Amino acid sequence: MAHSPEGYPAYVMTRRFRVRGEHAPATVGFKRTGLDVYFADGEILHYDLAGRLLRIARPNVQWRRGLSGRMLELRRRRRDELGGLARRLLDNAEADRRISGAAGRMERLAVGGGPSDARRDDAPLVEGRSLVDVLQSAARFGARSAAQDAARFRAIYHDVPILPPDQYGSLVVAATEGCRYNECTFCSFYRDTAYRAKTPDEFRHHVRAAMDYHGPGLTLRRGVFLGQANALAGPRGWREEIVRIVQEFCAFPPAEQTRFAPDWWQGSTRRFTGITSFLDVLAGVRITSDEFAALRALQLRQVYIGMESGAVPLLRWLRKPGHPRQLVDTVRAAKAAGIAVGVIVLVGAGGERFFEDHVHSTIEILCAMSLAAGDYVYLSPLVASEGGDYAAIAAADDIESLTPARLAEQTQQIRHGLRAARGERGPYVARYEVGHFVY
Ligand code: SF4
Repeated sequence: MAHSPEGYPAYVMTRRFRVRGEHAPATVGFKRTGLDVYFADGEILHYDLAGRLLRIARPNVQWRRGLSGRMLELRRRRRDELGGLARRLLDNAEADRRISGAAGRMERLAVGGGPSDARRDDAPLVEGRSLVDVLQSAARFGARSAAQDAARFRAIYHDVPILPPDQYGSLVVAATEGCRYNECTFCSFYRDTAYRAKTPDEFRHHVRAAMDYHGPGLTLRRGVFLGQANALAGPRGWREEIVRIVQEFCAFPPAEQTRFAPDWWQGSTRRFTGITSFLDVLAGVRITSDEFAALRALQLRQVYIGMESGAVPLLRWLRKPGHPRQLVDTVRAAKAAGIAVGVIVLVGAGGERFFEDHVHSTIEILCAMSLAAGDYVYLSPLVASEGGDYAAIAAADDIESLTPARLAEQTQQIRHGLRAARGERGPYVARYEVGHFVY
């Protein structure tokens, strides 16, 4: 397949390079957030401006490399396989092979092809980086440097096990580690991580280290996400201090501004659009309306809440704390302060036994939240890992799992119920796959 990215408006500069050992040239597109390399055989390599490999794309399949070193394959299923994307985590050996293959190709391009106009290509374009700088970094990013880079990432972050889908492109900074509650049967993200909140100084040190680590790759990051599961769970003074510390390092638009031109943040290593975070129900009920307003003035622009279901018996069965009515109060208080909300629903939870109650109570509670354009509802299919707590209680209580067709039916019923109640001006509703994630 032939690519002609020269006309793409995203690119600051495009260049064609000969690739040693290949019959056709490759086209390189340099943009304010990264570098894309289009080869004649249809493969596209994507890098950040630090030269880290982010993605290898081929027709119908792509491999995403997370900063932690994990690599995820997303393969388009055929129609007769029910469509959608099949996800698979690569083992280290396979990931290394793909990374080495990409670096080898880049090496032949950068070294063998050579820039057609060296002076022009050497000129700094974004944050002091030139096309040649990024090409050379990308060519050096083989399996060994990728492993070293991932080790550096893990020393700073330990892990980023999950993010809301619209925050995959954010700069993550972790004010807390683990989950304070950590007992929901369906969730194993933080099972092996002891909960703790960082001291302000520790957090300051962490933000500095994280930003140094990302380096020129920050030009890709749009917002700042406060990790991990309950970053807003500390006492009020601590919460505000944490959010203020972020602002020692990051510039934001005026708090009252809600729309941003892309060039506010694209291509900058210091500018971001705002701060977002998960919020659990136990922390949410302790945040008063005036505190939400104070946090909004300090750039907290969106919170994501795992509601899972509006059905109380199902929540108790899942060992999810809190009551849906508390969530309604929290969501309303956040929204009254101008903070947008993302609510996560666990589709398939409780199988056939809870099906009807789950659908009806969830729609009822979502409607009571007065969600609107700018808010999100994420429908997240249950992932019951083998040997996990959910699988154990489902087996003990003889819960029949939903078939794929019934899961789709439940998803559709919740979507329809919401649309009927909220109309076209309601929240954005999307699927949220948590099975495999790489940051
Ligand atoms: S679902 Fe949320 S509150 Fe429950 S264990 Fe997981 S991170 Fe913690």
